[in-house]
Amino acid sequence: MPIPFIDLQAQRKRLGQPLEDAILKVVRSGAYVMGPEIAELEAALAAFGQARHALACGSGTEALILPLMAWGIGPGDAVFCPSFTFAATAEVMPLVGASPVFVDIDPATYNLDPESLQSAVEAVKREGRLTPRAVIAVDLFGQPADYPAIARVAAKHGLKLIADSAQGFGCTLDGRHPIHWADVATTSFFPAKPLGCYGDGGAVLCNDARLHDLFVSLRVHGQAVKSDLEGKSFEHDPKYLNLRVGLNARMDTLQAAVLLQKLTIFADEIAARDRVAERYARGLGDLVSVPQVIEGGLSVWAQYTIELDGRDALAAQLRDQGVPTAVYYPIPIHRQGVYSGYPVAPGGLPVTEAKAGRVISLPMHAYLDPDDQDQIIAAVRAFVKTNR
Ligand SMILES: *Cc1c(COP(=O)(O)O)cnc(C)c1O
Repeated sequence: MPIPFIDLQAQRKRLGQPLEDAILKVVRSGAYVMGPEIAELEAALAAFGQARHALACGSGTEALILPLMAWGIGPGDAVFCPSFTFAATAEVMPLVGASPVFVDIDPATYNLDPESLQSAVEAVKREGRLTPRAVIAVDLFGQPADYPAIARVAAKHGLKLIADSAQGFGCTLDGRHPIHWADVATTSFFPAKPLGCYGDGGAVLCNDARLHDLFVSLRVHGQAVKSDLEGKSFEHDPKYLNLRVGLNARMDTLQAAVLLQKLTIFADEIAARDRVAERYARGLGDLVSVPQVIEGGLSVWAQYTIELDGRDALAAQLRDQGVPTAVYYPIPIHRQGVYSGYPVAPGGLPVTEAKAGRVISLPMHAYLDPDDQDQIIAAVRAFVKTNR
C-alpha cells in the first residue's frame, strides 16, 4: 500500500460510529445552517484555544477577512505579513482594498522576523503613502510565531495583531495560545489542516466582546446583533435590519458536528504528531536541516519540512519509491504576478527567497506507522548519501 501524505481515513476509522451518528443527526434534524452544533463548537473552540469568544465561519480565508472588515481596514491602509505563506494570508488585503506589505522570515522557524517587521513599518511610515494598521503573523507549518517580539512591534506602532493559525491551531508558546498576544486568532478547518472538517470551515477567536459581536453581524450580511438593538426596538427579524456591509461567512452545521467529534481526540493527535516529528528528527537530523521549534514552543506539525540542496530530485526519487512529498511554498507570494506590485521590507526578502528553493515536506499525520516512517527516513538518507 502506498504511504499517504496525510491519512484522513485512519482518523475516520478511529472516530467510528459516533462520528457517523453525529452527521446523521444533523441530516435528520434539518437544521443545516446555524444549527445547535455551531454554538456548541464555538464554545469548545474558545475553551481549547484559551479565548473568551470563538466564531465559526466558512473558511480560514473568511476568518481573516472578518477582522479586517470589523476594523474598517481598506484603501490606503497597510497590513504587514510574511510572503512565505499560503496565498490567503495576503489575499484578504486586496479583497478589502488595502495593501499587503511583505516581511521576511526567521531562517530557523520560517515565521515572521520581528526585525524585518520593525524596519518595514518604519519604511512605510517614512514614505507616508500608506497607513500602517495591522500585522498578520502566521504559525507556519504548525509552530507559533515569535508573538512576544511581534506584539511589541505592533504595540509600539499602534497596529492590530492577527494570528493566522490556519496551520497552527492548538500550538502554544510557553503554554499559551497565540490569542494571549494577538487581538484575533484565526484558523482553517480545510481537511488537510491539523484540525480539519469534511469540507471548508474556519474560525475567528478573540477576547473582546464588542469585536466578537461585529464578527457575528458581518458573518450574516451585517445583520443587527443584540448589542446593536439595546434600548431600541425592531418588530421584525433582526436578520433583515442590515447595519453593515457584510458577507455570508457561515459554517455548515454538518461541519460543526464533524469538528466536535474531532476535537475530542485533537490533543491526543497533537501528541502523536509530536512523536512523529521526533522520530524524523532522530532519523534525519545528522544529514539534512530538520525543523527547529522556537524556544518554549509546541508545534502541531501541520507539515514536517526539511531543507536540502536538490529538493526536486529528492521529490522525484521518493515518488518512484511510493513516498509522496509536497513543496510549501515554491513561489513566495511577493513573487507571484498579482502580488508583485506590493511593497516589501527594506532590503527585500532574502531568507524567504532562499527557502523557497530548498524546502520539502514529508508525510506527516498522527497515524503514521513507525515502519512506514522508517522507510521514508531510509529513502531520504539514501538520496542524500548518493547525491552529496
Ligand atoms: C489554509 C490556510 C489559509 C486559508 O484557509 P482556507 O480555509 O483554505 O480558506 C490561510 N492561511 C494559511 C497560512 C493557510 O495555511
